[in-house]
Amino acid sequence: MNTLNRIGPILIIEGPNSSKVPFSRSLYLDCSEKVLIDTGAEREMLLDIQCKYGINLIINTHYHPDHTQHNHLFKDVPKWINRLEFETARSIEGVAKLNGIYQEWGPSGFDMWRHTIPHEWVDNLSSISDYYEYEKEYRFGDVNVTFLHTPGHTKGYSCPFFPDLGVVFVGDYDMTTFGPWYNGTDGNIEEFISSAERLLSLDVDTYITGHQKGMFTKQEFQEAMKQFLAIIEDRDEKILELARKGYTFEELAKVGIFYPKQMLEQPLLQTWERSGIRKHIQRLGLTVPGANNEYSLTK
Ligand SMILES: [Zn+2]
Repeated sequence: MNTLNRIGPILIIEGPNSSKVPFSRSLYLDCSEKVLIDTGAEREMLLDIQCKYGINLIINTHYHPDHTQHNHLFKDVPKWINRLEFETARSIEGVAKLNGIYQEWGPSGFDMWRHTIPHEWVDNLSSISDYYEYEKEYRFGDVNVTFLHTPGHTKGYSCPFFPDLGVVFVGDYDMTTFGPWYNGTDGNIEEFISSAERLLSLDVDTYITGHQKGMFTKQEFQEAMKQFLAIIEDRDEKILELARKGYTFEELAKVGIFYPKQMLEQPLLQTWERSGIRKHIQRLGLTVPGANNEYSLTK
């Protein structure tokens, strides 16, 4: 329990390895209602908290496995997710669509992918029992929280905002050197930038990210965000330059724009690489040979 930080009633629970993917940071509201926000933190710490203090409600910011990964440990605890992702995230087909599996590989790709998913992963999402509304103030014990709708990373992504404490949990607006992630079919670059601007405009002192560094003052977050968003432009430039050289979509997909080239043999990373490149091609208005041959367009 030595790695717990606290801001008033909010306990910050770390994931292993600086909360890097496949883990993430969780928040625990240590008030009369005992709410856990996201379950990507270290398993033993979460179990310890449940044992010592109790967990009455789990709230997921979005459906990604690094933020929902320990939902299955708390079978009897009600679990909420944002309204937009409530239906889709509870079906394997829905999650496959959001991850670009159908878009890139069609039904046969889906059949292969579904056999690779761990049981817990399915439990984590299928056990979500209800949804919360965006932009509505909830009160848990003496803690007020509003779930800001901040799409871009995913369509339904929410950032829990604690106005009385001057804190916002920005999760996957995470300021990592990887850069912004919007590679699912429900990710959107323009929305990502708008949501980032909204987060910068909040009246808060502390930003808590879901991965790596963790806590930022407002000034640190503003500076980090400039570099973070500049990675989108770097990706634009790389793709533009290669497209001008005549690269086809299949050739672009092997370069390693998002992920290191050697990691692209992993099917899911390859899927996200392709889906991410499509978004930049569209944003730049480029004509790239083969870019329209996504599976769903050929059926
Ligand atoms: Zn995510």
